[in-house]
Amino acid sequence: MKLVLATHNQGKVAELRAILEPVGLELVGYHGPEPVEDGTSFLENAFIKAKAAHQHTGLPAIADDSGVAVEILGGSPGIFTAIWSGSKDNVANRQLLLAQLKDIAPEHRAAAFICTIALVTDDIQTSFTGIWPGSIATEERGTNGHGYDPVFIPEGFAVTAAELEPEVKNALSHRAQAVSALIDYFRS
Ligand code: IMP
Repeated sequence: MKLVLATHNQGKVAELRAILEPVGLELVGYHGPEPVEDGTSFLENAFIKAKAAHQHTGLPAIADDSGVAVEILGGSPGIFTAIWSGSKDNVANRQLLLAQLKDIAPEHRAAAFICTIALVTDDIQTSFTGIWPGSIATEERGTNGHGYDPVFIPEGFAVTAAELEPEVKNALSHRAQAVSALIDYFRS
Protein backbone atom coordinates (compact mmCIF):
# COMPACT_ATOMS: atom_id res chain seq x y z
CA MET A 1 0.00 0.00 0.00
CA LYS A 2 1.23 3.50 -0.96
CA LEU A 3 1.23 6.19 1.74
CA VAL A 4 2.14 9.86 1.30
CA LEU A 5 4.14 11.43 4.13
CA ALA A 6 3.06 15.06 4.44
CA THR A 7 6.47 16.64 4.93
CA HIS A 8 9.01 18.41 2.75
CA ASN A 9 11.74 17.08 5.05
CA GLN A 10 13.51 14.42 2.99
CA GLY A 11 15.39 13.12 6.05
CA LYS A 12 12.08 12.33 7.72
CA VAL A 13 10.82 10.56 4.58
CA ALA A 14 13.96 8.40 4.40
CA GLU A 15 13.86 7.55 8.11
CA LEU A 16 10.20 6.51 8.07
CA ARG A 17 10.48 4.75 4.72
CA ALA A 18 13.09 2.40 6.15
CA ILE A 19 10.79 1.54 9.06
CA LEU A 20 7.57 1.14 7.06
CA GLU A 21 8.89 -0.69 3.99
CA PRO A 22 9.38 -4.04 5.78
CA VAL A 23 5.68 -4.05 6.75
CA GLY A 24 4.52 -3.51 3.16
CA LEU A 25 3.92 0.25 3.32
CA GLU A 26 5.53 2.19 0.50
CA LEU A 27 6.16 5.74 1.64
CA VAL A 28 6.26 8.52 -0.94
CA GLY A 29 7.23 12.15 -0.43
CA TYR A 30 4.81 15.06 -0.72
CA HIS A 31 5.48 17.93 -3.08
CA GLY A 32 2.20 19.86 -2.90
CA PRO A 33 1.31 23.08 -1.11
CA GLU A 34 2.09 23.26 2.61
CA PRO A 35 -0.97 24.17 4.67
CA VAL A 36 -0.92 26.75 7.45
CA GLU A 37 -0.36 24.86 10.71
CA ASP A 38 -2.73 26.91 12.82
CA GLY A 39 -4.04 24.10 15.02
CA THR A 40 -3.96 24.38 18.80
CA SER A 41 -2.55 20.89 19.47
CA PHE A 42 -0.16 18.34 18.00
CA LEU A 43 -3.25 16.37 16.97
CA GLU A 44 -4.87 19.25 15.09
CA ASN A 45 -1.66 20.18 13.30
CA ALA A 46 -0.97 16.57 12.30
CA PHE A 47 -4.49 16.32 10.82
CA ILE A 48 -4.15 19.66 8.99
CA LYS A 49 -1.01 18.35 7.26
CA ALA A 50 -2.33 14.83 6.55
CA LYS A 51 -5.63 16.14 5.16
CA ALA A 52 -3.82 18.58 2.84
CA ALA A 53 -1.60 15.82 1.46
CA HIS A 54 -4.55 13.47 1.04
CA GLN A 55 -6.61 16.11 -0.77
CA HIS A 56 -3.75 17.04 -3.05
CA THR A 57 -2.63 13.51 -3.98
CA GLY A 58 -5.74 11.38 -3.49
CA LEU A 59 -3.51 8.86 -1.69
CA PRO A 60 -3.72 7.74 1.93
CA ALA A 61 -1.60 10.25 3.83
CA ILE A 62 0.21 10.43 7.15
CA ALA A 63 1.69 13.44 8.91
CA ASP A 64 3.44 13.80 12.23
CA ASP A 65 3.66 16.66 14.65
CA SER A 66 5.89 16.62 17.67
CA GLY A 67 7.50 18.65 20.39
CA VAL A 68 8.35 18.88 24.05
CA ALA A 69 5.93 19.75 26.86
CA VAL A 70 7.25 20.97 30.22
CA GLU A 71 4.95 20.52 33.21
CA ILE A 72 5.94 23.61 35.18
CA LEU A 73 5.49 25.72 32.02
CA GLY A 74 1.91 24.47 31.66
CA GLY A 75 2.79 22.19 28.73
CA SER A 76 4.85 24.75 26.80
CA PRO A 77 6.73 24.90 24.47
CA GLY A 78 4.19 22.37 23.06
CA ILE A 79 3.17 23.20 19.51
CA PHE A 80 5.66 26.10 19.55
CA THR A 81 8.64 23.80 20.23
CA ALA A 82 10.27 24.38 16.83
CA ILE A 83 10.13 28.19 17.13
CA TRP A 84 10.30 28.64 20.92
CA SER A 85 12.91 31.41 20.75
CA GLY A 86 11.17 33.09 17.84
CA SER A 87 13.18 31.28 15.19
CA LYS A 88 13.97 27.70 14.19
CA ASP A 89 17.43 27.93 15.76
CA ASN A 90 17.74 24.78 17.90
CA VAL A 91 20.55 26.20 20.02
CA ALA A 92 18.59 29.37 20.82
CA ASN A 93 15.46 27.31 21.51
CA ARG A 94 17.27 25.05 24.00
CA GLN A 95 19.04 27.96 25.66
CA LEU A 96 15.78 29.82 26.17
CA LEU A 97 14.18 26.74 27.76
CA LEU A 98 17.17 26.29 30.11
CA ALA A 99 17.01 29.99 31.04
CA GLN A 100 13.28 29.75 31.78
CA LEU A 101 13.94 26.85 34.15
CA LYS A 102 17.14 28.17 35.70
CA ASP A 103 15.72 28.47 39.24
CA ILE A 104 13.75 25.24 39.09
CA ALA A 105 15.06 22.23 41.03
CA PRO A 106 15.61 18.94 39.15
CA GLU A 107 12.56 17.28 40.76
CA HIS A 108 10.28 19.97 39.33
CA ARG A 109 11.57 19.83 35.76
CA ALA A 110 9.25 17.06 34.50
CA ALA A 111 8.70 17.07 30.75
CA ALA A 112 7.76 14.78 27.89
CA PHE A 113 8.45 14.48 24.21
CA ILE A 114 5.18 13.92 22.36
CA CYS A 115 4.60 12.75 18.79
CA THR A 116 1.25 12.41 17.05
CA ILE A 117 0.86 10.78 13.65
CA ALA A 118 -2.41 11.40 11.79
CA LEU A 119 -3.63 9.00 9.09
CA VAL A 120 -6.17 10.25 6.54
CA THR A 121 -7.66 8.13 3.75
CA ASP A 122 -10.93 8.37 1.79
CA ASP A 123 -12.79 6.79 4.69
CA ILE A 124 -10.49 6.83 7.72
CA GLN A 125 -9.25 9.60 9.99
CA THR A 126 -7.31 8.27 12.93
CA SER A 127 -4.19 9.06 14.93
CA PHE A 128 -1.41 7.49 16.97
CA THR A 129 0.41 9.26 19.79
CA GLY A 130 3.65 8.40 21.56
CA ILE A 131 4.76 10.01 24.82
CA TRP A 132 8.34 9.77 26.13
CA PRO A 133 8.41 11.04 29.72
CA GLY A 134 11.47 12.56 31.37
CA SER A 135 12.80 15.86 32.61
CA ILE A 136 14.73 18.88 31.42
CA ALA A 137 18.43 18.84 32.31
CA THR A 138 20.09 21.83 33.96
CA GLU A 139 22.64 22.09 31.13
CA GLU A 140 23.19 20.71 27.66
CA ARG A 141 24.91 17.32 27.39
CA GLY A 142 25.63 15.01 24.47
CA THR A 143 26.03 15.31 20.73
CA ASN A 144 23.76 12.60 19.31
CA GLY A 145 20.26 13.17 18.03
CA HIS A 146 18.80 16.56 17.18
CA GLY A 147 16.56 19.36 18.45
CA TYR A 148 16.04 19.27 22.20
CA ASP A 149 17.83 15.94 22.76
CA PRO A 150 20.79 17.55 24.64
CA VAL A 151 18.46 18.95 27.32
CA PHE A 152 16.05 16.02 27.70
CA ILE A 153 16.72 13.27 30.28
CA PRO A 154 14.41 10.32 29.58
CA GLU A 155 12.75 8.72 32.60
CA GLY A 156 14.87 5.87 33.95
CA PHE A 157 18.14 7.34 32.64
CA ALA A 158 20.79 9.62 34.14
CA VAL A 159 21.91 10.83 30.72
CA THR A 160 20.29 13.03 28.08
CA ALA A 161 18.71 11.72 24.89
CA ALA A 162 21.73 13.17 23.07
CA GLU A 163 24.01 10.89 25.14
CA LEU A 164 22.02 7.75 24.29
CA GLU A 165 23.05 5.47 21.45
CA PRO A 166 20.71 6.20 18.52
CA GLU A 167 19.43 2.59 18.63
CA VAL A 168 18.34 3.07 22.25
CA LYS A 169 16.56 6.35 21.49
CA ASN A 170 14.95 4.87 18.39
CA ALA A 171 13.54 1.98 20.40
CA LEU A 172 12.02 4.16 23.14
CA SER A 173 11.21 7.60 21.76
CA HIS A 174 7.82 9.26 21.35
CA ARG A 175 8.22 8.90 17.57
CA ALA A 176 9.11 5.20 17.85
CA GLN A 177 5.98 4.63 19.96
CA ALA A 178 3.70 6.46 17.52
CA VAL A 179 5.18 4.66 14.50
CA SER A 180 4.86 1.34 16.26
CA ALA A 181 1.15 2.01 16.93
CA LEU A 182 0.69 2.93 13.24
CA ILE A 183 2.34 -0.33 12.18
CA ASP A 184 0.17 -2.34 14.60
CA TYR A 185 -2.88 -0.64 13.06
CA PHE A 186 -1.94 -1.72 9.53
CA ARG A 187 -0.96 -5.22 10.67
CA SER A 188 -4.32 -5.85 12.31
P1 IMP B 1 8.82 18.35 14.10
O1 IMP B 1 7.39 18.10 14.41
O2 IMP B 1 9.56 17.11 13.71
O3 IMP B 1 9.03 19.47 13.13
O4 IMP B 1 9.50 18.81 15.46
C1 IMP B 1 9.03 19.91 16.18
C2 IMP B 1 10.03 20.37 17.20
O5 IMP B 1 10.19 19.37 18.20
C3 IMP B 1 11.42 20.64 16.65
O6 IMP B 1 11.96 21.76 17.32
C4 IMP B 1 12.20 19.43 17.03
O7 IMP B 1 13.55 19.75 17.24
C5 IMP B 1 11.54 19.01 18.33
N1 IMP B 1 11.63 17.56 18.46
C6 IMP B 1 10.74 16.66 17.95
N2 IMP B 1 11.18 15.41 18.17
C7 IMP B 1 12.36 15.53 18.82
C8 IMP B 1 13.29 14.58 19.30
O8 IMP B 1 13.16 13.36 19.14
N3 IMP B 1 14.38 15.09 19.90
C9 IMP B 1 14.59 16.41 20.06
N4 IMP B 1 13.76 17.33 19.63
C10 IMP B 1 12.64 16.91 19.01
